[in-house]
Amino acid sequence: MAESYDVVVIGAGPGGYVAALRAAQLGFKTACIDNFKNAAGKPSLGGTCLNVGCIPSKALLESSENFERVLHKFGAHGISVKEAAIDVPTMIARKQKIVDQFTGGIAGLFRKNKVASVHGTGVFASAGDGYTIEVRDGAKSQSLQAKNVIVATGSVPRALPFAPFDGELVLDNAGALALESTPKRLGVIGAGVIGLEMGSVWRRLGSEVTVLEALPGFLQAADEAIAKEALKVFTKDLGLVVHTGVQVTSVEKRSSFVSVAYEGGGKSQRLDVDCLIVAVGRGPNTQGLGAEQVGLKVDGRGFIEVDADCRTNLPNVYAVGDVVRGPMLAHKAMEEGVAVAERIAGQAAHVNLDHVPWVIYTSPEIAWVGRTEQSLREAGVKYRSGQFPFMANGRARALGEPTGFVKMLADADTDRILGVHIIGPFASELISEAVVAMEFDASSEDIARIVHAHPSLSEVMHEAALAVDKRTLHI
Ligand code: FAD
Ligand code: NAD
Repeated sequence: MAESYDVVVIGAGPGGYVAALRAAQLGFKTACIDNFKNAAGKPSLGGTCLNVGCIPSKALLESSENFERVLHKFGAHGISVKEAAIDVPTMIARKQKIVDQFTGGIAGLFRKNKVASVHGTGVFASAGDGYTIEVRDGAKSQSLQAKNVIVATGSVPRALPFAPFDGELVLDNAGALALESTPKRLGVIGAGVIGLEMGSVWRRLGSEVTVLEALPGFLQAADEAIAKEALKVFTKDLGLVVHTGVQVTSVEKRSSFVSVAYEGGGKSQRLDVDCLIVAVGRGPNTQGLGAEQVGLKVDGRGFIEVDADCRTNLPNVYAVGDVVRGPMLAHKAMEEGVAVAERIAGQAAHVNLDHVPWVIYTSPEIAWVGRTEQSLREAGVKYRSGQFPFMANGRARALGEPTGFVKMLADADTDRILGVHIIGPFASELISEAVVAMEFDASSEDIARIVHAHPSLSEVMHEAALAVDKRTLHI
């Protein structure tokens, strides 16, 4: 006899585990099914984000930045370090320890909130009075009965058809986070978020990194001024070699290196590297879910179709996170998970996808929320723009991080903030003020009139708001 639940969540990434926790908090009998196994072959909760995404990448970024500081930045403070060296296996072990602590933490949170944690692949078996979900784990199988189902099966890396991942020479995100030594020559296909974050890590540890990007421009999703500054910093200061507008035509694995052929600058070119990271985007993960078994609608690209409230075409079946439309970001997945659990409880919850912040954890960091200048121009929206550099901020200078700026865009008539774009130190933290302001429909003048602590990086946000009205004080 199948155990019955009010809510069964499929997937324990940030969308799924948060949905399960919130559903349990609201008094629902809840189970969460997840099939992820770590490199040691053990079930590990937390999905892509905790196991092979957000958390491990930030751990490696921090390690590599510390190494960079020792090599190139400590001298200015009068600190000298003789024979600085990085032990990559220690760095990787530290990353794994952080991951294990957090994935184990999810298991603890499930116990605390009485969420039944079930390991295996959840498959829709039948629909009738509720849904039967079969959980398959190797030869074992069990069934759960659910009144409500939340699908949070996440995403998987896209492979190029001619370059399948092999975990050694051609790497996806998991492989890029597990390298045990610094490759002398590293190739990256895709100058997106993963390409830039992972490229930065290994460049700082000494790799010669070449990034091949298909689009003609660099970081086209970002505001054009930010993208321009980022390209300058990443190529001139960090030393990434970036080729945009290229078409990769083949990837050939040799005994100990990879040969990449591509068309770029009007001619055929070749890049030989010791290993290659392919980071050309991710696709929704609905394989093996049994969507067709119950008539769950999936679009042409494999995303589960949902409305603005994450409802699918089936009654009492919801989907959240990377497996549905919208940005593939952990915080977006989590908020959708909370909103869906609350909606099942009859509450009115909503996630505003227009104000989801983006962060790229390079150095300097890049963060934004809302509209870019180019999108406002294209849409014919009248706006005013204010920009202020970190160079003129005392805290940034004291930190030795003067690169970058904050740019604020506000409606020309109403002064309502339409977008905020940051490249600079702790952009990931600074962007929160802009998100709060935009959620409360603030104007640039509101930010200009709020007291900001001195000396702090937040003063750059303050000055950018003043700059919208052409009245900066410190420049
Ligand atoms: P996932 O985290 O992908 O979790 C889905 C889970 O469901 C997985 O455990 C999967 O094994 C399991 N599953 C799938 N199908 C089934 C099934 N049928 N039955 C049972 N289990 C199943 N986002 C940020 O916001 N900030 C960052 O800094 C950031 N860094 C990233 C770095 C990298 C290298 C990568 C790859 C991604 C990063 N992301 C980041 C994106 C973020 O990881 C995802 O947006 C987020 O994990 C999506 O959450 P999710 O719950 O939708 O899916
Ligand atoms: P991405 O969409 O950020 O970037 C992929 C890049 O590859 C794009 O610039 C695209 O034009 C390029 N590309 C596509 N096909 C190509 C080809 N054949 N040859 C050369 N270039 C090609 O995707 P990603 O970097 O793989 O990351 C996937 C997703 O994971 C991101 O979109 C993001 O949602 C999430 N993520 C977020 C963070 C963060 O929040 N800091 C970090 C890492 C990943």
